[in-house]
Amino acid sequence: MIKTLGIILLSFTMQYCTYSQSQSTSNQKISNMDSTKKANNSVYSHTDQSKVNVSNDEWKKVLPKEIYDVARLKGTERPYTSKFEKSNDIGTYYCAVCGNALFRSDTKFDAGCGWPSFYEPISKTSVIYLEDNTYGMTRTEVECGRCKSHLGHVFNDGPPPTGMRYCINGVVLDFEKAKDAEKKYNEQNKHS
Ligand SMILES: [Zn+2]
Repeated sequence: MIKTLGIILLSFTMQYCTYSQSQSTSNQKISNMDSTKKANNSVYSHTDQSKVNVSNDEWKKVLPKEIYDVARLKGTERPYTSKFEKSNDIGTYYCAVCGNALFRSDTKFDAGCGWPSFYEPISKTSVIYLEDNTYGMTRTEVECGRCKSHLGHVFNDGPPPTGMRYCINGVVLDFEKAKDAEKKYNEQNKHS
């Protein structure tokens, strides 16, 4: 019962947070994804766009529990716990389950909700939408367009140019720094 209440409360906050355009000054450096954790995930790819159809039983063997719970059981991570929430690093966000490209860092904004937020996906087919009527609310669920993993929800209270707010669980995202940004970062560090 307590757990259910917690989930309802979490879902409620996820819906009703408002965005601000203030830029975060976090200097947190996000390391590139750990390739070792994909060792037994044969479908993970940043280039293969073929649809993935893997059962939850199989995913359970492959994915870390925290990713499985959100991606496959449609859970919600606790707010303000994602290393990506305040990140301003330049690069691309991928699905942590299958590697599908989802969002560009230049569409990311500080929504103040506690979850990484974007105003548009990287392409029309990178995500899919489903009506979600759980917890007495009507929301639009966002899933990965390649592997149909649960990512989060989209709301129409986002900033220009789209007015949309993709409220995404950071645990189901992988981030890869843009190559140029990486080079610049290394150059700066070398000379400082
Ligand atoms: Zn995916």
